[in-house]
Amino acid sequence: MRRPFVAANWKMHGAARFVEAYLEDWRKTAPRGAVDVVICPPLAYLDRIAAALRDDGVLLGVQTVHAEPAGAYTGEHAAEMARDLGATYAIVGHSERRRLFAENDTVVAAKFAATKRAGLVPILCVGETLAERRAGQAEATVLAQLDGVLGHACAEPRDTDFVVAYEPVWAIGTGETATPTQAQQMHGTIRARLGDVGDAFAQSVRVVYGGSVNVDNAEALFTQTDIDGGLVGGASLDAVAFAEICRVAGRQTDS
Ligand code: PEP
Repeated sequence: MRRPFVAANWKMHGAARFVEAYLEDWRKTAPRGAVDVVICPPLAYLDRIAAALRDDGVLLGVQTVHAEPAGAYTGEHAAEMARDLGATYAIVGHSERRRLFAENDTVVAAKFAATKRAGLVPILCVGETLAERRAGQAEATVLAQLDGVLGHACAEPRDTDFVVAYEPVWAIGTGETATPTQAQQMHGTIRARLGDVGDAFAQSVRVVYGGSVNVDNAEALFTQTDIDGGLVGGASLDAVAFAEICRVAGRQTDS
């Protein structure tokens, strides 16, 4: 059985005082066991949070990495640098990176490979825009994004140490969530494509849903057969709400 997985994507939110208050709330309310929890704060706060949560079983991630290990890339950070700060995960291919920073599938594949090179676990984001969904291109878009990585970046394609996050672009930060049925349908499609690599592979890789997940809709989403947890943006900025979402995911193991 796949262990539930929930990651927080703080995006470029937070401040020193916010981090202290968040940690205080998190310690009071954090779920224990039954679920893998990853927090991806802005890089600036990563080592502080890693140190504070060292004994709490929470893992840390970054929101992006550069594909190269070093070089003249002003303002960027390498996957190895993120690892030195305490990260064990890295989000790759988030739709905001694709849209605002012109990251195409080739760039995403290179970044995916970089996280592997550094020993980080990539959280690969895939998802269609509303226009692509309306044009009947949702599945083709998502599978092309997945293939971009399965085909080129995995030195060892049977290495299950990565997470796929299905994040329909139209549901990110909009308050509009894919229905559990819509989400399950795409997760089933993703798992079927993973099955082309191998059955055991498909059954091991965690595929999580992202897009306006909150305390109220988490259960209906996480109880779907092929949804193994969530990638949570806005709602993860509230430690109490995020802890509750993690607990909901953890219950899928308990039950
Ligand atoms: C995200 O940024 O990955 C995300 C899912 O955001 P939100 O939960 O706010 O839609």
